[in-house]
Amino acid sequence: MRSLRLTFLAILVLIPLLSIAQQAPLSQRIVVYNIDAKYDAKAHSLDATETLTYRNLTGKPLDRFPFHLYLNAFQPGSTFNEESSRRGGFRTGMGGEDNNGRGFIDVKQFEVIGMGDGKSKFNFPTPQNLTDKMKFVAPDDGNPKDRTVMEVQLPQPIAPGGEVTFRITFHDQFPEVIARTGYKGDFLLAGQWFPKVGVWWRGAWNCHQFHLNSEFFADFGTFDVNLTVPENYIDGATGVKTAEKKNGNGTKTVSYHAEDVHDFAWTVDPHYIVINDSYTTSAGNKVAIRTLMHSDHMGSADRYRDATLGSLKKFDEFYGVYPYSTLTVVDPASGGLQAGGMEYPTFITAGTAFGLPKGLREAENVTEHEFGHQYWYGMVATNEFEDAWLDEGINSYTEAKVLNALYGTDTSTLSMFGATLGNSEQQRIAYIPAADLDPMTANAWDYVNGNSYGSITYGKTATVLLTLEGIIGEAKVQQAIRTWFQRYKFTHPTEEDFMKTVNEVAGQDLSWYWDQAVKGTAMLDYRVMSATSINADPNAGFKAKKGASYDTVVVVHRRGDFVMPVHLEVKFDNGDVLHENWDGKDRWHRFRWTKNAKLVSAEVDYTHQLLLDKDSFNNSYRAEPNDSATRKITSYWMIAIQWLGQMLAWLT
Ligand SMILES: [Zn+2]
Repeated sequence: MRSLRLTFLAILVLIPLLSIAQQAPLSQRIVVYNIDAKYDAKAHSLDATETLTYRNLTGKPLDRFPFHLYLNAFQPGSTFNEESSRRGGFRTGMGGEDNNGRGFIDVKQFEVIGMGDGKSKFNFPTPQNLTDKMKFVAPDDGNPKDRTVMEVQLPQPIAPGGEVTFRITFHDQFPEVIARTGYKGDFLLAGQWFPKVGVWWRGAWNCHQFHLNSEFFADFGTFDVNLTVPENYIDGATGVKTAEKKNGNGTKTVSYHAEDVHDFAWTVDPHYIVINDSYTTSAGNKVAIRTLMHSDHMGSADRYRDATLGSLKKFDEFYGVYPYSTLTVVDPASGGLQAGGMEYPTFITAGTAFGLPKGLREAENVTEHEFGHQYWYGMVATNEFEDAWLDEGINSYTEAKVLNALYGTDTSTLSMFGATLGNSEQQRIAYIPAADLDPMTANAWDYVNGNSYGSITYGKTATVLLTLEGIIGEAKVQQAIRTWFQRYKFTHPTEEDFMKTVNEVAGQDLSWYWDQAVKGTAMLDYRVMSATSINADPNAGFKAKKGASYDTVVVVHRRGDFVMPVHLEVKFDNGDVLHENWDGKDRWHRFRWTKNAKLVSAEVDYTHQLLLDKDSFNNSYRAEPNDSATRKITSYWMIAIQWLGQMLAWLT
């Protein structure tokens, strides 16, 4: 009975293991990480050993390996702190000095334990201690005090097709939550916590320092992580939990396994309330959703749930299937909002506040946004340091599409006290303040300041793609994004790959648009400069009446340097409505009609498709200014919304 039961249990255990083993890899799996970490909950620190096997698929011999040591960003003199002091925090919310001494990572020992040719396992079986070969480098700014990247020179190169295994012993001191890592009370979000190898990309190592306004870039692979934490703590992490054992000393060790991901984050808190849910994708695979809540935020639990399930469904429908079997949604502890709004593979942190009004859809916006990153960063793993618009921006566009579909085009951000705001408009409002400061293609750390980085990377990219809907149609833009996902998932595509994909799906060369909108800083603003309707009969005088002949002239002015074809709608008092097109190239264009009717109104971009148009208030002219009061109220409202929109956009 007992042995039978054990056999049965063994089979039950083996079935999922076999199915995992038989599943074809989704990515190239360049890296294999095995990490054993012991967390000291009192000191908010950990000691760990990491074994990393790197497969050299670069086609070149490699004898030098760079590693990210992100937690050193919070040390005096770091580039992160320097940028924070100089330009103000975008994601930190505080000045540089405050970050000093708050967190670090110390590599105690660095060994190479195997240097193989890919055929025999280890050609170099004796461990080599290379601790004294480690050196800090600062490839972006040469800052000698920055210790966020270190490099190791190997005694011999790793041949193309070969592999190398490193064993790294390290100690982490977590900061109090900052830049989306660290602790708050008993809560811990462990992000960017282990030495992570750089990416060989476009013929060179790509391993940037940790900047204030930049995120991350890493290779796909597998992770097996054992975490020893206090026994009463509730844990969550990237991937699938495979084991949990009590150690009999007040601690437990939990094990997680993740495949085809490029990062690994985890969290613990004794106060978590766990909510389990599931979603079945259109391909029939089941996604186990685990939401880790705090008691004072339970009012947002259903809101996270609806946004998570809704996002899974809409992404499935619009872009493709979520292929992982788990998704963990973390609600940061009160006071730990700096840990909120962050994405890691199969693991996101949301954010809310006690009593957040239902009509302010911040909890939904953050959840959707971070889930979207599972696609734009998680699977289509673009370089977040250099091409931030490809993750944050495309994600902001899909945020608008998904949230508008779920919560209404005009109400997806805000709907309370009769005031409404849709996510598309929110993106546009976020873009306006920095519209012409930096091109979307700038390196994340090269933007003039944090505001410009936020405005351009998130808001402008979304607005550029929403405006593109007016040129090639919404269906084509959505199809292009779907193709982008299907074609480039589990790879590291470039900006050119994206524009090429859209051109291909659109069936036209959109270089004229990319050059201005993406690579340039030209501002788009067309306006109705003047509109007159004069009786064509010079002797008519007061006798002019309805039905008389009028000479109507409308001048449309291109105020900015951005050139776009524009469409004009003109209405006359006999009910006639005329539509005119202009290529928008000259500085201005004069339209002229002689009709037996007087001009009522003229509006450029009357279909409201040029969301990039910086000032939409100058787009129209009315003979009777009967809506001036409304406009005035609208503009006050716009200022309030502008402030709100920016706040919302930058939280995520
Ligand atoms: Zn984001």
